[in-house]
Amino acid sequence: MTNQQLSAGDHITSKCTKCKDTTNHTIIAMVGDTIAKVECNTCGGIHNYRSTVAKKPATKRKTSGSRPVKTAKTETEWEELLKDLDPATATPYSMQMSIESGDLIQHPSFGLGRVINVTRPNKMEVYFSSGVKLLRCTIG
Ligand SMILES: [Zn+2]
Repeated sequence: MTNQQLSAGDHITSKCTKCKDTTNHTIIAMVGDTIAKVECNTCGGIHNYRSTVAKKPATKRKTSGSRPVKTAKTETEWEELLKDLDPATATPYSMQMSIESGDLIQHPSFGLGRVINVTRPNKMEVYFSSGVKLLRCTIG
């Protein structure tokens, strides 16, 4: 098995960013045993040698610590939460409104939301498409 030593002037295949392909290149510079610079025989571009040996593509593993895109999940949950409710029955939000957990409300800024929790004396958690908001209310 011959382990041919490469040197400047030799031909080698390398990835060319300009050609966006693996093309024939001429080695123009070596650093020790490592090919440093190559010239693309197709476009003439000189660039650092990029091995054609397929590197394992960086596995896009979801880091367990990173939370999933919040809005997408929230919207799905929100749709799930509101699917059995008729938006027409939503009560327009006002601080004086009398509210119960499970009620559907229409907020001027946040839109349609479902009351998921009511905290005395006058706070409620409402699930809007944009997330859960804490709003003032009057508990009836
Ligand atoms: Zn090229």
